[in-house]
Amino acid sequence: MWEPWEIEKKSGGNYKVFTPFYRKGCLQFMPPRNPIPKPNKIGYLSHKERLNTIDSLNLLPNETWVEAMMSHWKVGESMAMKRLKSFIKEDLSDYSEGRNFPAKQKISRLSPHLHWGEISPNQIWHAVKKLSQNKNTDCFLSELGWREFSYSLLYYYPTLERDNLQKKFNSFAWRKSKKLLNAWQRGMTGYPIIDAGMRELWQTGFMHNRVRMIVASFLVKNCLIHWHEGEKWFWDCLVDADLASNNANWQWVAGCGADAAPFFRIFNPITQGKKFDPKGDYTRKYVPELSTLPDKYLHAPWEAPTEVLQDADIKIGKTYPKPIVDLALSREKALAAYKAIKNS
Ligand SMILES: Cc1cc2nc3c(=O)[nH]c(=O)nc-3n(C[C@H](O)[C@H](O)[C@H](O)COP(=O)(O)OP(=O)(O)OC[C@H]3O[C@@H](n4cnc5c(N)ncnc54)[C@H](O)[C@@H]3O)c2cc1C
Repeated sequence: MWEPWEIEKKSGGNYKVFTPFYRKGCLQFMPPRNPIPKPNKIGYLSHKERLNTIDSLNLLPNETWVEAMMSHWKVGESMAMKRLKSFIKEDLSDYSEGRNFPAKQKISRLSPHLHWGEISPNQIWHAVKKLSQNKNTDCFLSELGWREFSYSLLYYYPTLERDNLQKKFNSFAWRKSKKLLNAWQRGMTGYPIIDAGMRELWQTGFMHNRVRMIVASFLVKNCLIHWHEGEKWFWDCLVDADLASNNANWQWVAGCGADAAPFFRIFNPITQGKKFDPKGDYTRKYVPELSTLPDKYLHAPWEAPTEVLQDADIKIGKTYPKPIVDLALSREKALAAYKAIKNS
């Protein structure tokens, strides 16, 4: 919406912190350009064989997973517009609260359409700006601001994909473990909210933002695996995989990015699950082997009494994995690793 060089600090240079970037930079600058009206005529090159539909281009790989994944998406410009209208009508009025709860789906799901250029951020911005403004519209527009911030970071730090923005993380003691990485990728960590998120990603090519933060924190902090590994997996699996947003967010979660979440803030997947999926609708959808477990034990199934597990037909370690890391211990290890680089 704004060119990176338009949003600079008064004293010169780019903003490294989101709030001033957005509030003092973007919002004080000129509003984003209005979308250009649809052209009356487009001078296409003529071609003997007319391609009437996008399907006739055969762009999708000939793989078995394609059909299942594509059943979650409607591709194209008109579908992107429809999605925007439906989000504005049905979900925007509860966005600022609702967007935290993956089961509620009070989010726009516009990111794939944005990434693939089927809708522009300017179109979204102006469609929302036309409405009466409130905390929900503010919050939603600021998320588009995060997208701008990611693009600005990529512009000013073209090696964002590779290099930690905070150099002290160059000597961080990351761990190499194929076993842990594999369990995380397959949604077999033994932590239900993590497994639900990773399976949502695998099955649909998407993951709710709240869950993206939880699974990313788990990989880099509880498993101590380099954020590059998580970034690569997201890059392979996400239908909205985007160089700027993916890397800026992985660096943000890992604590090494601009304006990053402090490293010592480590999400607890049990608490997060209980708070943001209290009835377990999201978790049960993607981890069906736990579907009959009572809410009380859903986010920590190994704590359920034997008879409850038996009633739910669950054998920890057999039908559902044991937790792959101990939360308290892994947290301590993460904090110790961070302490070692903190003042470097
Ligand atoms: C580890 C991690 C990796 C991510 N990787 C990507 C990625 O590859 N591509 C991507 O588009 N987003 C990425 N995000 C950001 C965010 O999760 C998605 O943009 C969001 O979930 C898309 O869903 P939505 O369209 O319903 O979002 P909404 O909540 O409806 O937000 C509207 C739009 O704002 C933008 N937006 C929202 N949150 C962010 C954010 N944190 N950073 C940048 N832009 C944001 C997106 O363009 C989104 O479509 C990542 C977040 C995390 C934590």
